[in-house]
Amino acid sequence: MIDTLTPEARSRNMSRIRGKNTKPELVVRRILRSTGVGYRLHVKALPGCPDIVMAGRRRIIEVRGCFWHRHPGCRFAYEPKTRQEFWNTKLEANVARDRQNEAILSEKGWHVLVIWECEIRDLGALRERISCFLEIDPTNCHPAAIAKV
Ligand SMILES: [Zn+2]
Repeated sequence: MIDTLTPEARSRNMSRIRGKNTKPELVVRRILRSTGVGYRLHVKALPGCPDIVMAGRRRIIEVRGCFWHRHPGCRFAYEPKTRQEFWNTKLEANVARDRQNEAILSEKGWHVLVIWECEIRDLGALRERISCFLEIDPTNCHPAAIAKV
């Protein structure tokens, strides 16, 4: 186990292992409900079993843990201090899988918005990104607002 984490951080990280219904995901779902846009959860028929799928709009929202999915430049995506080879192999496989799934989805005409767990703290910005991504009120949307971080 990583021995450099506080118990709280460790349990937070453990819940990220292919985690479903994580707190960040619940926050995103709450925002979606407030927009009235219908969605399905954890759709196994699609590559990577995406978290939130809005089939009519051909849109997918993926909520990712920064550590497990290696959020670029994020302080939560730190290098594990112990068993580095084991962790690097595992984490690199996660990133490769994410990329592959995104490529297949985009080939099939799906638009994918990735929301990182560290981004849910700014609820206003998150709401705006989701609303722009779903084109609920596109007049106020700048392309950068929904760009992947
Ligand atoms: Zn992050």
